[in-house]
Amino acid sequence: MSSDNLSELIKAKASDLGFDLCGIAAARPLNEYGEVLEKWCSSGCNGEMDYLNRRIERRINPAEFFPGAKSVAVTGLGYYTGSVFSNNDVPVVSRYAYGENYHDVITRKLNLLLKYIQEIIPGAKGKPFVDHAPILEKAWGREAGLGWPGRHSILINKEFGSFIFLGGIVLDAELGYDEPFNEDLCENCQLCVDACPTGAINDNRTIDVRRCLAYLTIESDGPVPDEIVPKMEGRLFGCDICQEVCPWNKGIPIHHTPEFKISDELLKLTSGKWENMSEEEFAKVFQKSAIGRKKYKPFMNTLSYLRK
Ligand code: SF4
Ligand code: SF4
Repeated sequence: MSSDNLSELIKAKASDLGFDLCGIAAARPLNEYGEVLEKWCSSGCNGEMDYLNRRIERRINPAEFFPGAKSVAVTGLGYYTGSVFSNNDVPVVSRYAYGENYHDVITRKLNLLLKYIQEIIPGAKGKPFVDHAPILEKAWGREAGLGWPGRHSILINKEFGSFIFLGGIVLDAELGYDEPFNEDLCENCQLCVDACPTGAINDNRTIDVRRCLAYLTIESDGPVPDEIVPKMEGRLFGCDICQEVCPWNKGIPIHHTPEFKISDELLKLTSGKWENMSEEEFAKVFQKSAIGRKKYKPFMNTLSYLRK
């Protein structure tokens, strides 16, 4: 079977598994991203994520992630929910954390996709990744033709916008490849830059995470800087503002993944329940959610900032 035919079969299977997007790129070191990453880290824009500075070589080269890498199959799974869930005084949680932890959902699907690839290419090996792996998933999305990086740094697809989870599989098999997406469809737009409440968007499509509410409320366990606290606008876990204002997200499809449906536990939380949640309740309510990635104490600290 030709490499192009194999790629078509892989994309059809990805679609059967529920992925909205699948593109395939030839594996190569993404050397052009090395300098940008180095400058981003040396200017401190990586916040407390020191590991990003130490592993640049590994991050830009898929062969470091998976020896023998020849191809990168990149998948996209939409998670747009339409309007944001809000309930009077209840804090705002980003759409991506409404349901089951997307890392688990996507990894399950990718493992099934890899199994299928090994059926149609006997002996093929591969390693799945989601966004916490040391690989530049947004850059690979562009290489595989899925979209372009918006000014807010997130990959935008023409049909599904930017509310998409990226993942993929690095493979040791040669396949037929998609053309990289080389257009910049942001053109002269600046809406996300103007809307960001904290001025976190740099002028080279990177984010200064020290000012970004998504980083400060999800990844960081440290205090939220005093000058940022009044700009949190009720955000407890994540921030969708720069995506909400993007014209490419107008009219995009609502997600169809049952696991991403807002959980009953989240729907039932009232303002009082949030405030008085014990560590045991936190573990129980969020054990399957991406919110469970955060430790209880820093989570409750973030909640206390919202009441200042
Ligand atoms: S996620 Fe929020 S704080 Fe971060 S860049 Fe976007 S709008 Fe700004
Ligand atoms: S809001 Fe405008 S500048 Fe920002 S990502 Fe969307 S199209 Fe690009």
